[in-house]
Amino acid sequence: MKISFRTIQDLLGRSKKQRAELIESYVLIPSSHCRRRALCCSLLPEITLLEALAAIRCLLDLNPDMRLQLTKGLVQYFFLNSVCINSCPFLNQRNCLIYENRFFGCRAYGLWPKNHYDELAERSHCVNRHNQRLWQRFGISLPQEVVDFQIPYCPYVKPDSDTSVNNETLTRAADKIEKLSGQLAPWHDSFRQTYFSDLSFFTASLAFGLNEAVRMKFAFVKDYVITENQAGLSEVINNLPDVFAGLA
Ligand code: SF4
Repeated sequence: MKISFRTIQDLLGRSKKQRAELIESYVLIPSSHCRRRALCCSLLPEITLLEALAAIRCLLDLNPDMRLQLTKGLVQYFFLNSVCINSCPFLNQRNCLIYENRFFGCRAYGLWPKNHYDELAERSHCVNRHNQRLWQRFGISLPQEVVDFQIPYCPYVKPDSDTSVNNETLTRAADKIEKLSGQLAPWHDSFRQTYFSDLSFFTASLAFGLNEAVRMKFAFVKDYVITENQAGLSEVINNLPDVFAGLA
């Protein structure tokens, strides 16, 4: 089920309580420090609808130029993420532009025990290989290095205190966030099933409509792989309006 502008407006209004509780849920994840190599920011993480709404709220609080720049980054990320590795659109010179509101996936990265992280990485690799086969049916071979790309496990993330972090701690926080977002039924499931928990797909769909966003992605990926021509994509991105402005 598609999520319209009007629905987002409505959800932003009625999710204030859940967004406040989302911040409290993040507290369950021990704060940590790292070498800020920004490895974890090589990809935009999957998120819940509630986290997407919190990110949209952040975008609305930015000045219009910065918001437009980020919106363009999100849309461009969606169009090209099957064929090249672009950093998370919120990353700016090793700094996260929404750091205080960064997502569960960003906070938990590096805190998972390595064996659990490897399982998660393998699961996402399976999804990539499945997508590769789908594209292949349309005669498009995705670059193998993109299909195989995994954010490496980072051993330099350390909790700030002596608190031990284990799967249960992080899973409890993830479950709580999932339940909070689930209160926004039926849209919580729509965000996962229709937009694959991907804020970049969601943003491109708001800009162009869901079917058109998918059609454009197909055309831009084909251009990229077959002709290496990105003129069409550049034109679309340069002319993209501030799609979130109507919500401000
Ligand atoms: S939201 Fe911020 S912390 Fe998370 S991946 Fe993007 S830049 Fe990195």
